[in-house]
Amino acid sequence: MRKLLDISIGDVFGDLKCISYHLRKNKNGSHSTVYTMKCNICGREKDMLSSTIRLGRGITHKACGKGIKTLDPIFYSRWQAMRTRTTNDNYEHADCYSKKGIDSDEFKYFIDFYDKMYPSYLEMASIIGKENTSLERIDNNKGYSVENCKWIHKHDQPKNTSRTVAFKVIYPDGREEIHSNVREFAILHNLNNETIIDCLNGKTKTHRGHRFLRLRKEAEDELLRSDKKRHRQR
Ligand SMILES: [Zn+2]
Repeated sequence: MRKLLDISIGDVFGDLKCISYHLRKNKNGSHSTVYTMKCNICGREKDMLSSTIRLGRGITHKACGKGIKTLDPIFYSRWQAMRTRTTNDNYEHADCYSKKGIDSDEFKYFIDFYDKMYPSYLEMASIIGKENTSLERIDNNKGYSVENCKWIHKHDQPKNTSRTVAFKVIYPDGREEIHSNVREFAILHNLNNETIIDCLNGKTKTHRGHRFLRLRKEAEDELLRSDKKRHRQR
């Protein structure tokens, strides 16, 4: 008789299909049946227990990205910034992106951005460095897709309005960090560029619980010098 938790080859759960199974010996000497599941979107395979599968955990293609996000934080931040630009109507330049119908639906899941854009990103980054490698659309009237994206040096971005200013941020939980690019910080943390600048200029005290303090001129020069040095070393 077939047990409730049995899974057969060919069974489909979410985006995964069972392609084989085998016994795995546990530490206590008992055995578990492990099912090899293949994603029908990207083809990745992984071993899973039937209980996990039945609970519906990790059975979507989206879950294929698990663990990949942390491999390259800079690459991940490029995806995050793109998603913010195209999905957040509160983003400061939403008029040029989400409100204009510029989408990144093809890269809704990080795993797809990784599979399709990581090789070309690495190629460019190996020449100009990861920090400088910036995502650009070929046709500005079209959204983000494999066909319409390329990697360029961030200094070559025509609309690059990044301001270099050394500042200290105090997070709502009291943590403190030093940064030098307001725009990048704003995008990454889903905050408003202009409001941060207002905080730095003393016009506003806080922005969503964050405080921003301008560093003294000497400290700023020091930070910018070390930034430059870091870039040269790459
Ligand atoms: Zn997948």
